[in-house]
Amino acid sequence: MYNYNVSDSFRAKNSFDPEVRVLHVGNNNKCRSYASFKSQRLRQESYLRYVSDVCKRKLLSRFRLGVSVLRIETGRYEHNGFPGGKGLPLEWRVCLCCDLRKLEDEIHFLIECPCYAKMRERLLSKVISELKLNHTFFLSLPSDAIFMFIMESQDKVVVNALADYLWVAFKLRNQQLTQALQNTVKSVKRRKV
Ligand SMILES: [Zn+2]
Repeated sequence: MYNYNVSDSFRAKNSFDPEVRVLHVGNNNKCRSYASFKSQRLRQESYLRYVSDVCKRKLLSRFRLGVSVLRIETGRYEHNGFPGGKGLPLEWRVCLCCDLRKLEDEIHFLIECPCYAKMRERLLSKVISELKLNHTFFLSLPSDAIFMFIMESQDKVVVNALADYLWVAFKLRNQQLTQALQNTVKSVKRRKV
């Protein structure tokens, strides 16, 4: 079992199992998502066998290990505004692609962020049809349960659908953040003129 800390306020804001939703910067936090859904038993990671595209496989692997470019991770290295201060508090590491002001972690990125709604629809409908799930029931589950279900799946179609989702969603995220940065630069320049 790995160690983690969850502040009471953060726990209160996130109404599900703290082992799933993460958590506080501390030891082993990079293993946060992975540790939450990985089976106790050692088994071959299905994505290594199923995802033929090397880039997608790497992306999926990093996402599972909690070392993707999401702010829950990159915020550890962002300047916090204090002299010499490195690392944002967890509550500042919010998603910059939507207005929900929620922590940009793996669950937000995969299940919650409205920015990726269209591609998520495709992912979820593939999961539902491939695994013959009850559509209404599945979609009524809390975000963490849907997240866990998808991440734990050993089904080839689901694993590839997940890899495809990550590929296009991260691409869109990158475009959105680049655009936002360019807009900020332009507005700063306008103010200086
Ligand atoms: Zn978002």
